[in-house]
Amino acid sequence: MASVTLSAVSKIYHGGVEAVRGVSFEVPDGSFCVLVGPSGCGKSTLLRMIAGLETITGGTVRIGERVVNDIEPADRDIAMVFQNYALYPHMSVYDNMAYGLRNRGTPKAEIEARVAEAARILAIEPFLDRRPRQLSGGQRQRVAMGRAIVRKPQVFLFDEPLSNLDAKLRVQMRVEIKRLQRSLGVTSVYVTHDQVEAMTLSDVLVVMNAGQVEQIGRPIDLYRKP
Ligand code: ADP
Ligand code: ADP
Repeated sequence: MASVTLSAVSKIYHGGVEAVRGVSFEVPDGSFCVLVGPSGCGKSTLLRMIAGLETITGGTVRIGERVVNDIEPADRDIAMVFQNYALYPHMSVYDNMAYGLRNRGTPKAEIEARVAEAARILAIEPFLDRRPRQLSGGQRQRVAMGRAIVRKPQVFLFDEPLSNLDAKLRVQMRVEIKRLQRSLGVTSVYVTHDQVEAMTLSDVLVVMNAGQVEQIGRPIDLYRKP
């Protein structure tokens, strides 16, 4: 586990769009932080800077004590779950989950054990030999979660992971994500534009608007205000 600390983080895209303007906050060890706000407010840009998928124009991002501004995504000790799942279509579910570990040279027995454990937790054991196209949306989402879990990262990053699911499944997966995060205790940063999702999941809620933090706090405190 590790905290995530943002200090005066900003992002100006080529062309001059100021997507993130001097954002500072800390996500404590093991807590679940949700970034919420209207489309275009900079949530995804901020998450991608934590992931290392976007260069940082100003300020610093720390994971634990370490400033990661110039660290490659693969060396940041994070795992990200994307909206479109980003699974490899030609690989089996097993191989999708094993791929990142194989690249790191993790021993085969260790890979098998980790995939088996993740598959059990997420109830996708029956599908390990299937291709992603042979799965439902909810099953694909579980595989994407499994791929993140097997890495045993310090930090989980989620970019609107449930927005491609129907309403009923979204509620079900929300509960599962929360249970999973609690039991693993992994520091998490989760982006959504869905206020209910944000309320349900967050220990720390960050409300963004126009590239800045508008409010931050426990959801129960933020929504009690007049
Ligand atoms: P959100 O995730 O809250 O919808 P984004 O972080 O995607 O917001 O976008 C924030 C702002 O940055 C928007 O004005 C968007 O148009 C702009 N933006 C996002 N990605 C790029 C990019 N690659 N190049 C230029 N502008 C971008
Ligand atoms: P090798 O490295 O000898 O090829 P792997 O462990 O990579 O062996 O497994 C070979 C194939 O068998 C993999 O591509 C994977 O799809 C499949 N496989 C391995 N273990 C399992 C498992 N527990 N469940 C389902 N498929 C598995």
